[in-house]
Amino acid sequence: MSEVVRMKLVEAVGSQNVVMETEAIAKLSKDYYWYSPVLEKELSKKQADYVIIPESVESLKKALQVAVDEKLPVTVRGAGTGNYGQAIPMTGGVVVDLSKLNKVLEVGEGFTRVQAGMRMRDLEKQIEATNQELTIYPSTFVKATIGGFVSGGSGGVGSVTWGNLWDDNVLEAKVLTMEEEVREIVVLKEELLDYIHSYGTTGIITEITIPIKPKNRWTQELISFDDLKDALQFTRSIAEGTEWRKRLVTVVEAPIPTFFRPLKKIMKEVAKTNHLVLIEIAEEDRKKMIELAEKSGGCIVHSVEAERYRKGIGISDFTWNHTTLWALKNDKSWTYLQNFFSLEDIHNQIDNIKNRYGDEVLIHVEWLRDRGKLVPAGLPLIKFQSYERLYEIIDFFNEIGATVNDPHTYLLGAGGWNLQLESIAKKKRDNDPYALLNQEKLPVYELVKERL
Ligand code: FAD
Repeated sequence: MSEVVRMKLVEAVGSQNVVMETEAIAKLSKDYYWYSPVLEKELSKKQADYVIIPESVESLKKALQVAVDEKLPVTVRGAGTGNYGQAIPMTGGVVVDLSKLNKVLEVGEGFTRVQAGMRMRDLEKQIEATNQELTIYPSTFVKATIGGFVSGGSGGVGSVTWGNLWDDNVLEAKVLTMEEEVREIVVLKEELLDYIHSYGTTGIITEITIPIKPKNRWTQELISFDDLKDALQFTRSIAEGTEWRKRLVTVVEAPIPTFFRPLKKIMKEVAKTNHLVLIEIAEEDRKKMIELAEKSGGCIVHSVEAERYRKGIGISDFTWNHTTLWALKNDKSWTYLQNFFSLEDIHNQIDNIKNRYGDEVLIHVEWLRDRGKLVPAGLPLIKFQSYERLYEIIDFFNEIGATVNDPHTYLLGAGGWNLQLESIAKKKRDNDPYALLNQEKLPVYELVKERL
């Protein structure tokens, strides 16, 4: 840490935007990496030397120029809710918190252009005034920024209809490079693939344009099932049928519902033995959906009318990686995996897993579309015993074709998602010739191939 560098950063962004307190610097050097006992061990001591929170793109640009001139590592941060240590500065340097770049710049018919630090829930509130809504967002949308989602996330609520980030859910981005002279570029179409889920290794996104859609009136349903196969069959029909307007279709195996403390009164004793389906569906499709649920062996546990949407806790607060959070609140030894089950073989695959691991693995499925294909995506809970056991479970999932995207690595690409790593590495060489951005996250390609 150098006083001269700190003064240069102060000059760039203003003294009020340079974090001085050691505790705050430590906090802003962390994300939700501790979901993984593997990452917890590897990353807990990493810390930035400087943290800045620029208020304008101009001051951000000046600060990045200081970093280039001084050859300081730079790690960008949205809200720090990523689970893979993506936002953790491996080699110190500057953490650039973009949470003050949070303006909506334009809302048109079918699109919105926003600054990267905009929180997704705040964004949806603002576009609601035009009777439109987001296509996809993570279950952390109250805190998560659009820049962090695009750079470090994958999909979430809405993905059952609109797919993941790679499915035309990002239209355009403005990016600052870390070349000798920091430069702003505009990125469109296929070139966006070098920035989506690239952990900010190829540039700093300052502005993003995303598609938005006509607003629906969403109702929320909790449905319990005695039989997990019935729950999966029923949810597949809802997820697959294009006639259903839906935003979220989730299945969690018993006793996961017992971890959902706020639902304790609603779920009662049934939580211990019954599997739970969580659905967000358009008001006009609700009655038909309930009929189908009951015919399929389901029992409606709780309904939330459209008027109550976004008022208080919502059912998405129990889905995606929030499911893991509730498990961890209950017992710290839970962790998780991410995998894709096979649409045609999911029942067999789950039987194989349950026969081998019993309640050491609890099933959690999020239905989504990925590049047009319907996928039962798993976020199973794993009772952590050891690194070796975790990787034995991962190997078993892979052997039976329930392919794992490993969430216990901070290495870009080793976590899956079919990233075009060679192209990303090339873009990094062009945009960040001194390799200052998010150091150690983009591995040499050969190493990733080995891990895959
Ligand atoms: P951060 O964690 O701050 O950053 C993520 C990555 O992007 C980092 O590598 C960072 O360096 C980089 N970055 C941030 N901003 C920029 C920028 N402007 N330019 C370049 N690089 C940048 N993820 C999902 O995809 N779907 C889910 O449903 C989901 N559910 C979750 C539930 C829980 C309880 C938790 C803890 C996490 C969940 N996540 C989920 C992971 C995470 O919350 C999301 O991906 C979220 O969108 C990240 O946003 P953030 O602002 O916190 O990003």
